[in-house]
Amino acid sequence: TQTAKGHFIENIIKEDLAGNKNNGRVATRFPPEPNGFLHIGHAKSICLNFKMAQQFNGKCNLRFDDSNPAKEKQIYIDAIKSTVKWLGFDYNTPFYASDYFDALHDFAVELIKAGKAYVCSLSADEMKEYRGTLTESGKNSPYRDRSVEENLDLFRRMKEGEFDEGEHTLRVKIDMASPNMNMRDPVIYRVKKAPHARTGDKWCIYPMYDFTHCISDALEGITHSLCSLEFEDHRPLYDWILDNITIPCHPQQIEFARMNINYTVLSKRKLQRLVSEGLVAGWDDPRLPTLEGMRRRGYTPAAIRNFCDVIGVSKKESRIDMGLLESCLRDDLNENAPRVMGVIRPLKVTLENYPEGETETMEAMNHPQKPEAGKRDVSFSKHLYVEKDDFMEDPPKKFFRLGPGREVRLRAAYLITCKEAIKNETGEVVELICTYDPETRGGNAPDGRKVKGTIHWVNAEDCIDAQVRIYDRLFKDENPEKDGQDFVENLNPDSLEILEHAKLERSLEKAQPEAAYQFERLGYFCLDSKESTPERPVFNRTVTLRDTWAK
Ligand code: ATP
Ligand code: MG
Ligand code: MG
Repeated sequence: TQTAKGHFIENIIKEDLAGNKNNGRVATRFPPEPNGFLHIGHAKSICLNFKMAQQFNGKCNLRFDDSNPAKEKQIYIDAIKSTVKWLGFDYNTPFYASDYFDALHDFAVELIKAGKAYVCSLSADEMKEYRGTLTESGKNSPYRDRSVEENLDLFRRMKEGEFDEGEHTLRVKIDMASPNMNMRDPVIYRVKKAPHARTGDKWCIYPMYDFTHCISDALEGITHSLCSLEFEDHRPLYDWILDNITIPCHPQQIEFARMNINYTVLSKRKLQRLVSEGLVAGWDDPRLPTLEGMRRRGYTPAAIRNFCDVIGVSKKESRIDMGLLESCLRDDLNENAPRVMGVIRPLKVTLENYPEGETETMEAMNHPQKPEAGKRDVSFSKHLYVEKDDFMEDPPKKFFRLGPGREVRLRAAYLITCKEAIKNETGEVVELICTYDPETRGGNAPDGRKVKGTIHWVNAEDCIDAQVRIYDRLFKDENPEKDGQDFVENLNPDSLEILEHAKLERSLEKAQPEAAYQFERLGYFCLDSKESTPERPVFNRTVTLRDTWAK
C-alpha cells in the first residue's frame, strides 16, 4: 500500500481535499487511554496522526481517552504528555474525553428520548447469554421495550447513584440479530462507583469506549479518525451513533495495521503484567518496548520516527524484525554520537618502560568520519586498563590484539608490546606487563612496521569508575507467545548483565542523561537518567555496533 504517491491514508486525505470534503480541513487525533505507558506501537499512531496533520496544514489533538476511572491514573497522563513531546510532536493543550461527560450524558438522553436507547436490567451473565454467538443470533432483552419515561427515570437514578454497579446499564437499540456482535444492542453507560482523576466524584456512571470515542472525535471536529485494525468491526457502531444524535460533524474512521515486533510484546495489558509482577524494574525499564524505557536506554526520537517511516502504513498485519528498529537507531547514533573510550571488563596494564608519575595528553578524534566534530584530550600514563577480551594467552594467528610477545596500537596513543601476563592464585590473568615504543606517538612506527590491531584503553590514574548495564532481548523466542505459551515463560533470564567497575575516560564525567556516546569498539551508551549519581555513574548500553543477532 506504500506507493511513491504516499500510503493509503495519505491518498485518502488527498482525495478528500481534492473533493473539498470537510471544507479542505484536516484534523486528526492521537487518543491514548491513560492506563499505562506508551510503547513503540503507539509511536506508529503518533507519527501517523501528527504527520498527516503537518503535511496537510491541519491539526492533531492529543486526547486522553479517560472514561474508565478504574484503570486510569494521573501518572500515566503525565508520562504520556512527556513522551509525545519527547518524540517531537507539539500538541498544544491536551484534550480529555472526561471534559465531554456532560455532553455525552446529554446525547445519551437524546437517544433515550428518541426511543433508541433503553435501560437494561440483565445481569452481566444474562446479558452474555442474550447476546448470542458468532453463529447464533442474539435475543432481545426483556427490558428492551421499556417506555421512554421509565428509561429517563431509571437513567437519572443511575446517574444519581441509586443503583449498585451491575444492576442496570444503558444500551442502544440496534439489532440483536446483527452478524456484527458490536451492533447487538451495545452498552453505552454503566454504573461505576469510582472517583475520576479529573471529575472527582461528580459521576457514578461512565460512558463506554464506543460511545465516547466517536462523539469526542466529532466534538473536536476531527476529519480523519485513524485507528488500528481491531476497531474495524466497531466502525458500524461509530457511524450508527453519530448518525443517530444531533451533531454537525461526522469524522471518517480509517483503520491501519498495528505494529508488531519480534522478541517483544506490544500491548499495554501485557506490559502492565511484566511491571506489576516485578518481572522488570518499572514501566521505564530499558529492556521494555515502552517509549520511556527506550528513551532511558538511549533511543533517539529521530531514530524512532525514522523507523515508523521505514515500516510504513498499510492494512496488512506483519511482525517486524527487531533488527530493523536497531538498524534505524544505529544509523542515527553512528552519525551523531561522539566517540569515547571506555573499558567495560578492565584488565590492568603496566608499561614497564614508561616513567612512573608522568602523564601526557593525547588528542583523540571525536568522530573519525567527521573531522569537524573536533578532538578531545585523553590522558595517558604508565598505568592503563584495556579490555579483558583484548588479551589471549594463546591467541590464534588471526587474533590481532594482545598476546605474549604481540604488539598492538593503543587508539590515539602508542604501540605497545606484551611482555608478561601476571596471574592470581586461581590462574586468572590480572595484569599485563608491557613496553611502549616512545617513537610511535600517534600510532605509527617510523620504521614502517605493520601493526594490524588497534584497541581502546583508559588511563588508570584518572579514569572514572562506573556501572555499565548490558541489555539483551527481553524474550528468548522471536514470538514470545508461540504455541499459545504464556509470554512470561519465555522471558530471557540473561536480558540484563550488570558490570560493576567499568573504567571510562575522564571526559565522560560531564555526560548528560540520554546523550549518546559511542564507546569505541563496544557499542553506543548513555548515562542512565534514573539511577546514575555523581558518586556512581550508571551507563546503559543502547545498542551494539553491529547486529550480533543476524546469522
Ligand atoms: P494496547 O492494545 O497496547 O493496550 P491500546 O490500543 O489499548 O494499547 P490506546 O491507548 O487505547 O492503547 O491506544 C491509543 C492509540 O494507539 C489507538 O488509536 C491505537 O489504535 C494505537 N495503537 C495502540 N497500539 C498500537 C500498535 N501496536 N500499532 C499501532 N497503533 C497502535
Ligand atoms: Mg485501550
Ligand atoms: Mg487496544
